[in-house]
Amino acid sequence: MNGCATPSRSPEPTATAAGAGDSQVRAMLADVSPQRAKAVVESLVSFGTRHTLSDTESDTRGIGAARRWILAEFEKISMLSGRSGAEAMKVYFDEHTYGPDRRRVPVETQIVNVVAELPGSMPAARDRRYYVIGHYDSRASEALDAQSDAPGANDDASGVAVVMELARVMSQRRYDSTIVFMATAGEEQGLLGARLHATKAREAGSDIRAVLSNDIVGDPKGPSGNVYDRQIRVFSEALPRTLEATQLAQIRRLGMENDSPSRQLARYVAETARQFGLTVQPMLVNRTDRFLRGGDHTSFNEAGFPAVRFTIVEENYDRQHQDVREERGVRYGDLPEFVDAEYLAGVTRVNGAALACLANAPSAPANARIVTANLGNDTLLRWDAAPEPDVAGYEVVWRLTTEHEWTQSRDAGTATEMNLSLNKDNYFFGVLAYDHEGYRSPVTFCTDAPQ
Ligand SMILES: [Zn+2]
Repeated sequence: MNGCATPSRSPEPTATAAGAGDSQVRAMLADVSPQRAKAVVESLVSFGTRHTLSDTESDTRGIGAARRWILAEFEKISMLSGRSGAEAMKVYFDEHTYGPDRRRVPVETQIVNVVAELPGSMPAARDRRYYVIGHYDSRASEALDAQSDAPGANDDASGVAVVMELARVMSQRRYDSTIVFMATAGEEQGLLGARLHATKAREAGSDIRAVLSNDIVGDPKGPSGNVYDRQIRVFSEALPRTLEATQLAQIRRLGMENDSPSRQLARYVAETARQFGLTVQPMLVNRTDRFLRGGDHTSFNEAGFPAVRFTIVEENYDRQHQDVREERGVRYGDLPEFVDAEYLAGVTRVNGAALACLANAPSAPANARIVTANLGNDTLLRWDAAPEPDVAGYEVVWRLTTEHEWTQSRDAGTATEMNLSLNKDNYFFGVLAYDHEGYRSPVTFCTDAPQ
């Protein structure tokens, strides 16, 4: 046994605790308002239905009125942000003509995502994009019923409330990288808005580093009567669908099936929530999604981007995809009275903390590797320097191969290699970069290379 192990790194990060970034993020999180988030839910419900095939002409009912309202709110937020020129928020409809398909869109339909982009302030980081999304479309019992009321309060006005409240509080501040706030359409008709957006982004070579998808995040009370108001599930995929055969072979050889970029993102979300001592904490689920259900994060995963899904712990199926009615004393329907404002604000802060840290931190180091030129009982790690000018150093993290989260760490300073008296066979290793304000990047998992 060697003497190199450092104490467990939770709950405070070791290398750069209490940097200036810490208080900046706390101030932003303190601005999140439960009342305003809940008011977004109520406003969206007031459009009666937001079914993707519903009325687009009316100003008071249907998906057209709903998206024009979201756009107008984003424009107000943009105006109040006081940002101008290259730093001004970009607010727009991301429109796609789609269908008919043989599934849930029988006629040609405009699928319209509503987007607000907050451009990054650092030229070297501006092209990196971090998304927070929720879907604003809703549905009733029948998937093609565009007429009946479909309040969609939890599913997913709650997710759009997270997006809009973060747009409001985050637009008041500066971030190195670009943050994208997006309300998607067509989720209930087959994850369409997110898929059309993600496919276009991939074709354009867009550098999307993380997507936080919020879908059903407002009601902490399960049908069992249990209240889970201190937890939010975070789902992440294990193996990206876009992998080539050689990449799969590497994953098999190195045992890195639990270390996809999406899973590093999930760990990052959990660690940030701990660091800021948030009231709602992530419950990580090592699955792409729940049984018999899907979500917009999958569309981004399929396009090759890291993405995770936030969802309440115990779902109430009487209140999802149900016509509003009462039968034998049971109330059905996704109504705003079942959205808990404080809990919704708590989930908003989990997203906000992760987004602010991701967007201000340097890039995760590229080419992180265990040097395996020779047999040996120690571990030599190397990585490439991160490109941002404000990088202050790097931190090596490791864990036993049976552990889920990174448990040990050591500061490397500005070096881009480290030798540890640890047997490389017995641990997983990773590297992260941090800046002068204490913002830390996600972890890059160390693969292997001869040098
Ligand atoms: Zn949903």
